Amino acid sequence: MKLSDISTKDPAPDSTPVLVSACLLGLPTRYDGKPLEVVHLPERFNGRVLIPICPEQLGGLPTPRPRQEFRGGAGAEVLEGNARIVNEDGVDVTENFLRGAQIACEIAKLAGAKEALFKDGSPSCGITRVTMDGKETTGLGVTAAALRKLGIKIIACT
Ligand code: SF4
Repeated sequence: MKLSDISTKDPAPDSTPVLVSACLLGLPTRYDGKPLEVVHLPERFNGRVLIPICPEQLGGLPTPRPRQEFRGGAGAEVLEGNARIVNEDGVDVTENFLRGAQIACEIAKLAGAKEALFKDGSPSCGITRVTMDGKETTGLGVTAAALRKLGIKIIACT
């Protein structure tokens, strides 16, 4: 093949890596240790390198683990030190969440990821909704908020 044979009309396929919530890929990382059904990823992710991450495991939390929820604010407020995360046993796990978010950001930078496909509703990976003070509300999870600050596009998966 000569250089002139290469069509300039067809853009090169996007090979940028994508961070994905590990549980969306069927890995048993959820609080109850049970795997979810593997989701069908949007077609535009075909052929992309998927990097599974579980920010809660990266932050040192065990699996299974008690449920956790926000107190006084969601992910962005936690990053600013103005809210906390407490599990159902009353233990403050905020530091684990911050550590997981920090490591997820390091992985994104190392990999050159520009997008993340995240499980909605999670206190780490949530995009449109989280649980705060016993109620579901709009807000970002801690890692989703940290990645968004880095300029990474977060796509919600329910
Ligand atoms: S939603 Fe995020 S933190 Fe929760 S199990 Fe899935 S990958 Fe881990």
